[in-house]
Amino acid sequence: MTEMPGTTGLLINEPLLWKKGRKGRSGFSIPKQDIPSYPLEEALTYGGPDFPDLCEVDVVRHYTRLSQWNFGVDTGMYPLGSCTMKYNPKTNERQAALPGFALAHPLLPEELCQGVLELIFHLQHYLAEITGMDAVSLQPAAGAQGEFSGMLIIHAFHRKKGAPRSKILIPDTAHGTNPASATLCGYRCVPVKSSERGIIAHETVASLMDDQTAGIMVTNPNTLGLFENNIIKIAKIVHEKGGIVYCDGANMNALMGIVNMGSIGIDVLHLNLHKTFSTPHGGGGPGAGPVCVRKDLEPFLPVPRIVLENGRFILSEQFPDSIGKLHAFYGNVGVMIKAYSYILSMGPDSLKKASQLAVLNANYIKEKLKDLFFLPHDVRCMHECVFSDEHQRKLKVTTLDIVKRLMDFGFHPPTIYFPLVVDGAMMIEPTETESKENLDLFIEAMRTIAGEAEIHPERLKDAPTRCKVKRLDEVAAARKPCLSG
Ligand SMILES: *Cc1c(COP(=O)(O)O)cnc(C)c1O
Repeated sequence: MTEMPGTTGLLINEPLLWKKGRKGRSGFSIPKQDIPSYPLEEALTYGGPDFPDLCEVDVVRHYTRLSQWNFGVDTGMYPLGSCTMKYNPKTNERQAALPGFALAHPLLPEELCQGVLELIFHLQHYLAEITGMDAVSLQPAAGAQGEFSGMLIIHAFHRKKGAPRSKILIPDTAHGTNPASATLCGYRCVPVKSSERGIIAHETVASLMDDQTAGIMVTNPNTLGLFENNIIKIAKIVHEKGGIVYCDGANMNALMGIVNMGSIGIDVLHLNLHKTFSTPHGGGGPGAGPVCVRKDLEPFLPVPRIVLENGRFILSEQFPDSIGKLHAFYGNVGVMIKAYSYILSMGPDSLKKASQLAVLNANYIKEKLKDLFFLPHDVRCMHECVFSDEHQRKLKVTTLDIVKRLMDFGFHPPTIYFPLVVDGAMMIEPTETESKENLDLFIEAMRTIAGEAEIHPERLKDAPTRCKVKRLDEVAAARKPCLSG
C-alpha cells in the first residue's frame, strides 16, 4: 500500500512540569547575591504560586514534545467540514508581525495609528467588493459574534420602523451558531425544513413568512455543502413581507469572485476571516467575523466606525442609530492584517480560482468515494461533501470508528454527526490548498477503511492505534473532566 503520512513516528512521553521539577533548578544562572535575601513567600499573603523549578532544556523539551502531539494544517490534511482549515501562507504572519502593527497599542491616539486605521478602512472596502455588499464593520471577533451583530442590526431596523418583530426563520441546514445568535438577540427561531434535495424550497418559506417574522437566516452554501439555489425567490418572499435576509457567509470559500451576495438579495452577511481569509484557527481563536450590510442598514453598524475626515482616519461614534459597541477596542486587528495581506497577495483572479479549486477538490473526493460511502445528496456540491455511515452501519461500524481509523493514516478526522439532518454524517472539506496527490492519499485511506470495515471491523473499533492517545471515552471526558493530569 502507498505509504500514508501517519504510519510512523517517534512520539515521546512527557509528564506534567510539576513532575519534572526539582527544587532549586533554574532556567539561567544569575550572579552571586550580594544583598540580604528576603523570601518572596513571606511577602505574599497566600504563600506564593506553586511553580515547579526547571532548567531551560526541560522547558524547551516539554513544549516541543507537546507540540508534536498536536495536529495542525501545517502537519497534514485537515478536512474539517464547515470550518475551512486551509493552509495559511506564512507571508501573512510576517506582515502581521511587522513591529509597526504588532506593537501598536489599542490605546494609542488616532494620530499615532493612522497606518492600522487605514489598513482596516481599506480591508472593509475589499470585503465589500468581494461580497457585493455596501458597508462593512470589522469589529466582531468571531463568526458567531458577526451573526449576533447582524441580528442586533435586524432588530434595530424593525424597531426604528416602529414595528419590532418576534420571530426569525432558520433552516435545518443552518450552522449551529445561527439559532444561538438569534435566540440571544431575543428572537424565537422558527425551523424551516429543507426539501428532499437538501435545500430550502421557496414555497416553505412563503408558508412561514408573516409580519411578525423579522427575516430569515440562511447559511449559504448550507451545511450539506449545497448552494441554496432558490435564494433569489426566497429573498423576494421575505422582502415582500418586510423581512430581512441574513446570510451566514462563513462558507464564502466556495463563492469568492463567483457570487455577488448583494445582488442575490442578501441584506446582512457575516464572513469568517479566520476561515476564508487565511488565519490559522482551530484552537479557539483569535478570529474576526466582519458583518457586511446593504446601504440602508449601514446606520446600524457597530461603533466606533473608521471614517476618513480631512485626509485623516478617525474612530467615530457619531452614528445615533448604531447598535453600539461590541467589545473593548476594535476586534482582533492581527487577523485583519493577515486577511489584508492574503487578499493583496492573491488578487481578484486568484481569489476566484481558490474558490473554484475548493469546489473542484470537494467534488473530486465526492466522486471518488461515493461507491463505498453513502452520499445522501448525489448532486454537485460546493466546497464540502457530506457522506454517512449508512453502508458501514450494517457491519456495526460507525462514523466514529471510521474517522478514528483515519487518524492512524495521518489525517485529521472530518466533522462528524453534523449536520444533524444526516444520520451519522461525515462532512469533508478538503479546501483548495490540498494538491491532487494529497487528495488521492486521503481517498485511498478512506477506501482502505471501507475495505477494513468489511473484513476487519475490530481494527476500526480499536482505532486509533498508532496515535499518541488511543480511543478516548468521550462521554466520561465530558462528564468527569480530569484537569490535573
Ligand atoms: C464556523 C462557522 C460559524 C461560527 O464561526 P466562529 O468564528 O466559530 O464563531 C458560523 N457559521 C458557519 C457556517 C461556520 O462554518
